[in-house]
Amino acid sequence: MTRVFNFGAGPAMLPTFVMETAQREFMNFHDMGAGIIEISHRSKEFDAVLNRCDELLKELAGIPDNYKILYVHGGAQMQFSAIPLNLLGLSPSKSASYIETGTWGVKARKEAARYGNATTAASSADTGFDRIPEFDCASLPADTAYLHITSNNTLYGTRWHSFPQTGDIPLVADMTSEFLSREIDISQFGIIFAGLQKNLGPAGLACVIVREDLLGHALKETPALLDYSVYAKSHSLSNTNNTFAIYMMGLVLEWIKEQGGVAKLEEQNNAKAKLLYDVVDASDFYLGVADPAHRSIMNVTFNLAKPDLLDAFVEQALEAGLYALKGHRDVGGARASIYNAMPIAGCVALAEFMVEFEKNNA
Ligand SMILES: *Cc1c(COP(=O)(O)O)cnc(C)c1O
Repeated sequence: MTRVFNFGAGPAMLPTFVMETAQREFMNFHDMGAGIIEISHRSKEFDAVLNRCDELLKELAGIPDNYKILYVHGGAQMQFSAIPLNLLGLSPSKSASYIETGTWGVKARKEAARYGNATTAASSADTGFDRIPEFDCASLPADTAYLHITSNNTLYGTRWHSFPQTGDIPLVADMTSEFLSREIDISQFGIIFAGLQKNLGPAGLACVIVREDLLGHALKETPALLDYSVYAKSHSLSNTNNTFAIYMMGLVLEWIKEQGGVAKLEEQNNAKAKLLYDVVDASDFYLGVADPAHRSIMNVTFNLAKPDLLDAFVEQALEAGLYALKGHRDVGGARASIYNAMPIAGCVALAEFMVEFEKNNA
């Protein structure tokens, strides 16, 4: 069997170590004669998996002691509801601010508007979300419950290089498409969340890292299973959690540790992205989507100067073992998602393919 280099945006490829370990242990976890997917979320065996996942995440992400790690149902977009439900109570006028750097930020604000006053503090919509907009934190009203940003914009291929300094106003970041791909000082944030399916494991669950003083302010109508304090009190086991996803995330974290940690991955991710951006920058055949000053190292987006060639590009890439390069339907063009699990060889192969395709079609 040959595995493709999978450039899909999510669910995304997982490290071979993770896939093989899960396969090996699937029927018989630690000689129990049963798989982890078949045993109680309250068993001592699963408890060990959960504790190990916490411990590794704390170590790898550098999470300070005054933060809780939660495993919350519903993936990233469910947190678009959970965040306002948990935090709007911090503001007498139930107001929150959103910086819109793409579709996900817009969706998050619209969801928050169901529960309170959700305003757009800044947006790069007028330039097609090709950059992170200028923003001055001094412009935030004093009664702002929180400021929401999307740290890496999966569709457009932009990211925040440094984060707004919001002082006493909690900064909330959707890091779904980049969590653990670069070193980040967690103490700048009130809440970080990430759906697992890009850099952490299977879809349907979100990892939420919340500063303890932000717990316990949920609006009355908050469903128990969206109330972060319920998760914090029950170690995310108030009901049957997605034990298999947590197990898989634990394996991903073991792999990251084995690679040398986040700093080491960041170095590799920078090198991987550079391979592709160098091809784009050296040619008039490929046109980068993101402003170079705001480029992501996780999602590399580009158009073809001859857009009619896009289908041929995607098809011939697939024949060469390079899977899922078509851009998001809202953006068009091509996109190479190169999360932590993408080996450097995948980016070398894609860069070579791009040069060759240009030669044959220029
Ligand atoms: C993929 C993605 C989402 C959506 O995740 P779901 O788990 O499908 O809700 C949200 N935000 C960002 C930044 C993403 O990349």
